[in-house]
Amino acid sequence: MTFPSRLLSLLVLLLAALPGLAQPSPAPKPLTVYFFDVGQGDAALIVSPTGKTVLIDGGPPEAGEHLVSRLRELVHGPLDLVILTHPHLDHLGSMKDAIQAVGARRYMDPGFDHASAAYRDLLEYVGKEVGQVMTPEPNPQAPDSFLTIGLGEGATLTVYWPRYPREPFLKNTRSDANSNSIVTRLTYGKTAFFFSGDSEADTEEALLRKNTDYTSTVLKVAHHGGKYSSTEAFLAAVKPKAAVISCAARNEYGHPTQEALSRLAAVGAQVFRTDQDGDVQAISDGNTVTLQAAKGRTSRVVVPGEVRPIAASASSPSASGQTVPASAPAGAARTGREPVPASGKVPAPAPSERTEAPAPSNTMRFISLKGSEVFHREDCATLKRAKTKERKVYTRRADAARERRPAEDCNP
Ligand SMILES: [Zn+2]
Ligand SMILES: [Zn+2]
Repeated sequence: MTFPSRLLSLLVLLLAALPGLAQPSPAPKPLTVYFFDVGQGDAALIVSPTGKTVLIDGGPPEAGEHLVSRLRELVHGPLDLVILTHPHLDHLGSMKDAIQAVGARRYMDPGFDHASAAYRDLLEYVGKEVGQVMTPEPNPQAPDSFLTIGLGEGATLTVYWPRYPREPFLKNTRSDANSNSIVTRLTYGKTAFFFSGDSEADTEEALLRKNTDYTSTVLKVAHHGGKYSSTEAFLAAVKPKAAVISCAARNEYGHPTQEALSRLAAVGAQVFRTDQDGDVQAISDGNTVTLQAAKGRTSRVVVPGEVRPIAASASSPSASGQTVPASAPAGAARTGREPVPASGKVPAPAPSERTEAPAPSNTMRFISLKGSEVFHREDCATLKRAKTKERKVYTRRADAARERRPAEDCNP
């Protein structure tokens, strides 16, 4: 070593040893979750500390422009994983646009068949354009464990539901497609995010029967703040410090419902709503989560995480579960899956047996607006306010229930 270079090394060593001059230890890399304002629907993007990206849901068709422009801004290279929580239009409507815009390495959905042209088109598209198409099937070697997906720097996405074929899909619920939503939890240090899709009370009950820790700093509220989800028992298990509701202003579903808002308030969750706050961004440094709204009354909130890091909870099923990096195959390839029939017709599920709503009178007719997932009582105020004149009339409730869900504002 020549003299000047030895001097230089000594200097570097000295600098490193001096407390005031030493390089500060690098701050933990942030993990960011973006909840996009896609109107009446859901779309969230995870950007992990190492830059892995996961898109959970793709909003309704009319959200394409906003979703694509945000993804172009935030995602460099193909999405590592795209999750469709369930095949309803308000979650898949702009997914193809999103994948077309930035690309995707792998796609996962519950594998729960749903006869709709939009879903069939999406499956056809991802089958051709996305490298891997899969369902969250538990690892046959560790069937009791949850599927986990490593996103780098310890950030881990765990899939709790569905667990087909290990456990059957939930059937005869208010909406079987909603009830079998892919439910995931993203943990990073002491912080966690819970993504509930449009899961229903039945899903929450099934989750609560599993002996596992759901504590989460931020909850993506189920089903746009519908009243049948976010049950008291479930919120008591999740203990969210902040909650994000994804819905459109003055939507015809009556979302979010006062019931869900009250239950969230009762557990002390700070509520963000995309209809009022626009895009909501949540940044975790592993200890706290800082939530920031693009507009609206809720500006900036910092909430402390209190989640046991996964590595410290050796008894938790997710710790011993199948762990797959986002860059490796996860779950089951969908080769054995029943294809969606080309005709788009599958036997209609039996209408829900559970009628929590008052029984409608015999002369009452039921109306669905064009393109809507729900049906209303004929006298519902929402119908009077609706701009579209195109509507479908059902004379029997059973016929309406075979094709659509009951709206939450009038409880048909
Ligand atoms: Zn939805
Ligand atoms: Zn849905």
